[in-house]
Amino acid sequence: MQYYSLHHKSPKTSFKKAVIEGLAKDRGIYFPEEITPLDTAFIQNISNYSNHEIAFKVIQQFVGNNIPEPVLKEIIKKTLTFDFPIEKITDQISSLELFHGPTMAFKDVGAKFMAQCLEYFNKDNDEEVTVLVATSGDTGGAVANGFLGAKGVNVVILYPSGKVSDIQEKQLTTLGQNITALEVDGVFDDCQEMVKTAFLDDEIERKLTSANSINIARWLPQMFYFFFAYKALHQKKKDLVFSVPSGNFGNICAGIMAQKLGLPVKHFVASTNVNDIVPNYLKSGEYTPKPSKATISNAMDVGNPSNFIRIRELFDNDLQQLRNSFSSYSFSDDETREKMQDIYDISGYVSDPHGAVGYLGLEKYGLQENEIGIFLETAHPVKFLDVVESTLPVRVAIPEQIKKVIDKEKVALKISTYEDLKSYLMK
Ligand SMILES: *Cc1c(COP(=O)(O)O)cnc(C)c1O
Repeated sequence: MQYYSLHHKSPKTSFKKAVIEGLAKDRGIYFPEEITPLDTAFIQNISNYSNHEIAFKVIQQFVGNNIPEPVLKEIIKKTLTFDFPIEKITDQISSLELFHGPTMAFKDVGAKFMAQCLEYFNKDNDEEVTVLVATSGDTGGAVANGFLGAKGVNVVILYPSGKVSDIQEKQLTTLGQNITALEVDGVFDDCQEMVKTAFLDDEIERKLTSANSINIARWLPQMFYFFFAYKALHQKKKDLVFSVPSGNFGNICAGIMAQKLGLPVKHFVASTNVNDIVPNYLKSGEYTPKPSKATISNAMDVGNPSNFIRIRELFDNDLQQLRNSFSSYSFSDDETREKMQDIYDISGYVSDPHGAVGYLGLEKYGLQENEIGIFLETAHPVKFLDVVESTLPVRVAIPEQIKKVIDKEKVALKISTYEDLKSYLMK
């Protein structure tokens, strides 16, 4: 299996090289050259397979012979160490909970998978790799946790000072070892911009890679969730509609990849907060990035979603084809809080703000009688404690994973300009 750059100016490359590079030399993101649908028999009999077996079947063609089968199976086993339960909210709407991993957001799966791939590729190599990543909140924690102790890999995380929740900050600043946190005086876009500049800077001699969802090893494992949901729900014999709270659009793009592999999905809804670049594109046909706006669903505060170009590729860059199986709607913070309250009133379910945006997307889509809607609950409510407890009449119990970091001491280096980052990386 080869990967090509979506800027079409770099040569094709292997899974291994695409993972190590992150981004192609022409600054394009990588895309698989072929997507071969899975056996229909496998999909029909999905209940007979364990999650580990499903994940192996789903990802194998994308890894090819770059990782031997037994190693890939071991990587999957170490990645999928928790469940992905489905909670019924109404007769037609359920929550797919992706937050039962070590940092309680869905990014744990991609981060752990990528860390192990990189560690495997680097095992006979003396040169260290530096993973440089900008986070609006959850990526940092998941990457820090996933890469902690990975041999030959250093991790440098940039996050916007004062713009991530307390728990998110603890998760990315307290681990130590091969993980360094840089607290940036600015917003997420500034962090992202600095990372991009560093990648282009020839004076930096360290080998840099990215662990954002542009990296195929972080992006592709997210296909698993949609198969797991199908496994849990297919006996209902209804059409499935997924609503995915979207920021960089990696998760939903992985869902569309799952559909390409033959997973029966009726429709995808990309639900966003007021960062509405994609909803606007679907309406007008014009893709216009904007500076990101801060919201209560901060993991989706993205003004130029990096994976959207992959989604367009999946639909042959044809807007009409895209509109047929994909919708995207934007919601304000007020609507999000109201919906959190509503969901709680009708079912007692405590959703985090991202999940509530997902729920809103299903309502706006308008489910038909033969359809069931699944929204992806991308983070545990504890990760957005202030928002949840100021919106709902509840106290969120602190899970074990979180208790472990909450009393640890934050260690972060403050930086404000690109030059600060550069001098850190040149040390
Ligand atoms: C990262 C994140 C998202 C957005 O996912 P994308 O793949 O970037 O669209 C949504 N919710 C939470 C809680 C996240 O951490």
